[in-house]
Amino acid sequence: MKIEILSGDITELRVDAIVNAANRSLLGGGGVDGAIHRKAGIELLEECRKLGGCEIGEAKITQAYKLPSKHIIHTVAPEWYREYEVPKEELLKNCYLNSLKLAEEYNLKTIAFPCIGMGVYSCPKDIGTRIALKTVANYIESSTIEKVFFVCFEAELYDYYTEFMKEML
Ligand code: ADP
Repeated sequence: MKIEILSGDITELRVDAIVNAANRSLLGGGGVDGAIHRKAGIELLEECRKLGGCEIGEAKITQAYKLPSKHIIHTVAPEWYREYEVPKEELLKNCYLNSLKLAEEYNLKTIAFPCIGMGVYSCPKDIGTRIALKTVANYIESSTIEKVFFVCFEAELYDYYTEFMKEML
């Protein structure tokens, strides 16, 4: 299986890239973004300052500094309580697709995703889970990426992911 669901803290994973659910400034925030910046150290913020932010659904890559992973891919989810020209489901899907494309460009083989958009940005857990698993499963069928971990920090989300994974099989 190329997909594995884990519960725990994404900052502890020794993979080629962990994905950060960032905000458009890329200058740090709460939730998983805060945990990543705290543990990676100030050099991460310095590199992020040079990136000029990131649009919703896009992705940018940095080094991971003091984290055990090699890189961090920063992506920005839509805020579920706002309206955009593009449907929010499509924007969230793009977070996964653009992160995976970037990982391939950098020849990265192992990548870990948090539950993007499902915290402060309020994407309903069932919708977010389905988009995450469907999009990634489809994409990696014919990809050089060898392994994708979904890291659930909340027990409830771990249950959503494992349930939907069973449905997909
Ligand atoms: P967003 O703003 O995109 O919703 P959040 O960081 O608020 O991002 O939440 C996304 C998910 O990340 C939530 O399910 C939250 O519980 C989870 N999370 C928070 N800290 C960590 C961590 N250290 N490792 C993995 N997931 C985390």
